[in-house]
Amino acid sequence: MDVNCYISNVEILNNVGCGICVCSSEEKVLFANEKFGAFFHGKIDGKAVKTTLSGALKGKEADGSGELYIQDDDKWFHVQRKHIRWMDQRMVELYTVYDITKTKQDQQRIERQANNDFLTGLYNRMRCEKDLEEQVDAARRENKEGALLYMDLDDFKHINDGLGHQYGDVLLKGISNSLKRISGIESSCYRMGGDEFIVIVSDSGGSSLNRILDDICKVFEKPWFLKGADYYCTMSMGIVRFPTDGDTVQELIKKADLALLEAKRAGKNRCEFYTAEEEGKSFKRLDLEKNMRNAILNACNEFEVFYQPIVDVSKEDSPCMGAEALIRWNCGNLGMVSPAEFIPLAEYLGLINPIGDYVLLQACRRCKFWNDSGHPEYKVNVNLSVVQLLRNDTVDRVQDALTQTGLNPQNLTLEVTESLAINEMARMKKILGQIKELGVRVALDDFGTGYSSLNHIREMPIDVIKIDRCFIEDLGKDEFEYAFVRVVCELAQALNMNVCVEGVEYERQYEILKEMQIHMIQGFYFDKPMKAEEFEKKYL
Ligand code: C2E
Ligand code: MG
Ligand code: MG
Repeated sequence: MDVNCYISNVEILNNVGCGICVCSSEEKVLFANEKFGAFFHGKIDGKAVKTTLSGALKGKEADGSGELYIQDDDKWFHVQRKHIRWMDQRMVELYTVYDITKTKQDQQRIERQANNDFLTGLYNRMRCEKDLEEQVDAARRENKEGALLYMDLDDFKHINDGLGHQYGDVLLKGISNSLKRISGIESSCYRMGGDEFIVIVSDSGGSSLNRILDDICKVFEKPWFLKGADYYCTMSMGIVRFPTDGDTVQELIKKADLALLEAKRAGKNRCEFYTAEEEGKSFKRLDLEKNMRNAILNACNEFEVFYQPIVDVSKEDSPCMGAEALIRWNCGNLGMVSPAEFIPLAEYLGLINPIGDYVLLQACRRCKFWNDSGHPEYKVNVNLSVVQLLRNDTVDRVQDALTQTGLNPQNLTLEVTESLAINEMARMKKILGQIKELGVRVALDDFGTGYSSLNHIREMPIDVIKIDRCFIEDLGKDEFEYAFVRVVCELAQALNMNVCVEGVEYERQYEILKEMQIHMIQGFYFDKPMKAEEFEKKYL
């Protein structure tokens, strides 16, 4: 060959975008361009080249191509081998090597994005469904049982709305990190979106599931430090076993979700296993939900507000002082549904807002009518669920109801419950304070059944403490009950609050309460909740 021609050929080969190397059958390097030398740090002895590169090639000698990863350099190469005829006519191997590290990294990033949740770094729904399918197959093949845990944070909305989304995000990340650290589920935690998480336990045999459940619960026992204060966040969980309870991804997720709804309905902060029996109830609940949505769309026509008198036993003949407004739902399809049944579901679904607005307006209108009909002293009590209370425009809505009906704010008492998110103490206090500025009174309902401490009572702007029915059921027989009511009365007096006892059914309870100088009493002993017309016939 012409020498000039050889030189220019080498020049060309040194400047192509790939590494090129020619090896003889005796594993001798006959030619290697500069790029090839650079890829392998100049170490281009025939044997080493062949062993390294053959890792990427299937079949020891044939033509072919494949990918090679060099761990020390963290680099990926595409390698091709082709047998060609060399200048002296013998057959030799031509290797071409392309650096594909960048493409590979891009590919991995795209894969990660497709499989991972951007915010928390946990795997996402897509990956969850894929993994679940594999785990179900494996469980069936190996005759094992696995479990799918479906979690939803309780009242996460309050944190998001109250503190701002950035703090909601911090909480989600904190929870994700803690879940990932639980042994046995490090790589099987998924965020399904929003505040929902799934954990797959591949082998739930022995005590492993219990241990994992314990560890998960512990994550939610400690407070999270957000925006300068401690916040508690609980979760509810639905658990389904595979392949026992189902063997398709859709079926398992649906059943776990049903169990989760059950956990929410049963009062949140708990784990429920899926059972076929519960599923039956869930269908009923779906029915309830559908009917409830319809009822709201139909201007709440099926709802009716009943009134239960509250009497002042300190006065002669125990006169009526007003009433508590209690909702009733006479559903066209389901018949009478009790509030104990539909209020928790309405709260869970956020439907309590339109229902609550309806009750508030009706009750204010009614009370204004009583006040104008010779009983200016009558007051009405309206229950306000935490979900309603923590809305951003609660105060405006209360003001609107007063303006629309012309009711004297002094004659409206809003009843809130003690179980109100302890997390939200500061926010609650602020909202209740603003409500009181309107001149409206605030009562703490079902006192004694929640988990707030006596300290909270001192801090909260409350006018009335309503002692729950369960504390007076055995009044006169049970010493604790007596002592409890007595202490609450003393406390209320010290804090300048009133006490109302609800659920009084018997003479004996009434006598004791009267003797304790409790003024406000409500219960079947006097009257049951009744239609407005009936109340008016009796008490106007
Ligand atoms: P609550 O606010 O504690 O209301 C008192 C409940 O006790 C009422 O049940 C009432 O009928 C019942 N009750 C009254 N006196 C007696 C008695 O002497 N013995 C017995 N055994 N029970 C008595 P109701 O009407 O079924 O309401 C249940 C709960 O549903 C209410 O408890 C309240 O938490 C909720 N609720 C009712 N209406 C509304 C509403 O409009 N909005 C909201 N957010 N919740 C409501
Ligand atoms: Mg009440
Ligand atoms: Mg109550």
